[in-house]
Amino acid sequence: MSKPRLSIVIHAEEEFPWDDGFYRSNNQVSHGEQLIELVDELIRAGGKVTLAMDYPFVTSQSGQKVIRYFKPMEGKQIEFAAHLHPWVNPPYESQMDRIENIDSFPGNLPSELEYAKLKVLTETIEKVTGTRPTTYLAGRYGIGKNSAEILKSLGYRVDLSISAYTDFSNIEGPDFSLYSNAMIWDKQLIYIPHTCSVVSPINLIANYLNRHPVKYKKLRCNAFSRTMLRLLRVKMYRLSPEGFTFEHLKAMTESQINIGKKEFILSFHSPSAKVGCTPYVQSQEELSRFKCALFTYLNYFKSLEGSQFYIPKELGKEN
Ligand SMILES: [Zn+2]
Repeated sequence: MSKPRLSIVIHAEEEFPWDDGFYRSNNQVSHGEQLIELVDELIRAGGKVTLAMDYPFVTSQSGQKVIRYFKPMEGKQIEFAAHLHPWVNPPYESQMDRIENIDSFPGNLPSELEYAKLKVLTETIEKVTGTRPTTYLAGRYGIGKNSAEILKSLGYRVDLSISAYTDFSNIEGPDFSLYSNAMIWDKQLIYIPHTCSVVSPINLIANYLNRHPVKYKKLRCNAFSRTMLRLLRVKMYRLSPEGFTFEHLKAMTESQINIGKKEFILSFHSPSAKVGCTPYVQSQEELSRFKCALFTYLNYFKSLEGSQFYIPKELGKEN
């Protein structure tokens, strides 16, 4: 029987106002020191951390401080991966500061532009870190029809962009609602989904819906069954300390283990390491709650029988 495996993936990026559109000029990174402290603590607690870095992060002084600090651990407890936010990543098609929502998903861009932006990001990460990234995470989970070919041509082996059971099509993004947390091996590329799960106080219901994403999708399509799901307290959780407590994270982990899934990605955004930089951490108290959920979960995961921590590039090498 396979053992539970956890990868911690940090979306290492600029501090932008989340509800105010996408601007090329929003590229400030000032949370490097707080991030070093947090990641260091995760590693001391036994975790392995993937820094999926975008262009503003990797080119900023604060981001480079983080890179210098963790470089000796690269390939062991740390992986440097790529995270594409197209609105702050050259080349740019126009001089406009504001970028339309539809173009904030890299997979919606014309193929040549998606390729050109990812090429610049890949080469910048390679130059700054000394290691060419082989693991990719699309900004806003936005992979599209050309992404796989582009990734393969740039030497990527692992894609972390699938968000299990999640449909972003109402905001012009991809629809992953028929994907579970199962890894997908596609010859040169391995897809490891960001972990999400249906939870319910009634295990049978959660197990059924987690096993049959198509049923869950159908139920959410109609107002009557949506009310039924609400009454049965059926919810969708993401494996993240942003907006979720340790109890939430434990419940969703158990619901996935119940259906035999053993691969987990716990994720959050790097600016959450500093008070005031994401909507989830706006005060010292919220930062304490965030860290409490994160570290209590890490210790819980360590206590699961045979559990392991890993960086995605380890799997890419096996493929
Ligand atoms: Zn991002």
